[in-house]
Amino acid sequence: MPKYFGQYGGQYVGEVLKPALDELTKAFQKYSKDKKFLMEYQDLLANYVGRPTPLLFAENMTKDLGGARVYIKLEGLANTGAHKINNALGQVLLAKRIGKKTVIAETGAGQHGVATAAAAARLGLNCEIFMGMVDVARQQPNVFLMKQYGAKIHVVTDGTKTLKDAVNACLKHWTSCFQDTHYVIGSALGPYPYPDMVRFFQSIIGREIKKQIQQKENKLPDVLIACCGGGSNSIGMFTPFIKDKKVRLIAVEAGGIGNKPGQHAIRISSDSPAGIIEGYKSRFLQTADGQVLPTHSISAGLDYAGIGPELADLAEKGRVEFTSARDLEALSAYQYMARTEGLLFAMESAHAAAAALKIIPKLSKNKIVVINMSGRGDKDIFITAAELYKKEWTEFLGQEIKRLCD
Ligand SMILES: *Cc1c(COP(=O)(O)O)cnc(C)c1O
Repeated sequence: MPKYFGQYGGQYVGEVLKPALDELTKAFQKYSKDKKFLMEYQDLLANYVGRPTPLLFAENMTKDLGGARVYIKLEGLANTGAHKINNALGQVLLAKRIGKKTVIAETGAGQHGVATAAAAARLGLNCEIFMGMVDVARQQPNVFLMKQYGAKIHVVTDGTKTLKDAVNACLKHWTSCFQDTHYVIGSALGPYPYPDMVRFFQSIIGREIKKQIQQKENKLPDVLIACCGGGSNSIGMFTPFIKDKKVRLIAVEAGGIGNKPGQHAIRISSDSPAGIIEGYKSRFLQTADGQVLPTHSISAGLDYAGIGPELADLAEKGRVEFTSARDLEALSAYQYMARTEGLLFAMESAHAAAAALKIIPKLSKNKIVVINMSGRGDKDIFITAAELYKKEWTEFLGQEIKRLCD
């Protein structure tokens, strides 16, 4: 298996972590072909996650837009509410197979932490989550959920006290305990073998779509659209179609509120430079001297300064097209999907919907478009309600605070 995707990827870590990554590479190579392992994973996907997730024909949207036929892959119906569980479960199962007792993970918004904590609870492993102090404060609902699943939270107080400091703290901790601990990375990035491993577990999304669309339309789709943070739901959706050159693959980055540094998380379409950060080579939003830039997005899952190395390579080769959606475009796509199809998109997934709303009307009626609804939007109510009904929401929160303090 290659350690690079074109010029990107690799394994840029200190000597102390090499043995951990070597062991993981061997285990992944072995178990990704092991029938018993794959059967157990398959059984968990069916009975615990609830797969296959449906591929819904979006009849109202198709009629309304008057262009291509639209289908929506409902990853939001997976247990814990998003695609992240596919990867978390796969890695925790792998860790269990190779005799690890504990899994650790970093989390920013908390979605990956929740998925990892749930998977660890299900499979009977200890779980410790590293999270920046700033994120712990602003993501209490997810901190609460992780605790319900029995995870221990390490509050990281270094640096900016956010995701990248949590990653560093988690990596540092791993060097001291990898003999009995596995580090679950949450997107298709990090040092080899993580990008391969995450893609392997997430490609269930694309494999199911290929089968489902074959049954419903008896042909390949013409366009696939997914939102792209680190890139795990997009690479998972695209992988089984990469060789089908006629299928357009479109990844949607977070356009935020503007084009200035700090206002968005557009890595590819903004021509961000290559760099080596967090153990791998890819494209990063960074200053001329290699400092990671702050990012902004209305969606907690798309505001990452880097991107998975395979997607960076597929972008350069022209196989995956990149576009972006602004915060307000995502918010109105979120409202459109709720009203038109009765689907509450996660704000991340709403970026894919926003791009789809522009693309679909331009396509002829015999074309087929699939949008990945990577997650459901219940988790975003503190953001969406505050944006859309500020007065009512503020009053409600005020009443709740009063009720708790009385
Ligand atoms: C985390 C998250 C994303 C972004 O991560 P990728 O690795 O790019 O898929 C997208 N959608 C949802 C619902 C998420 O929770």
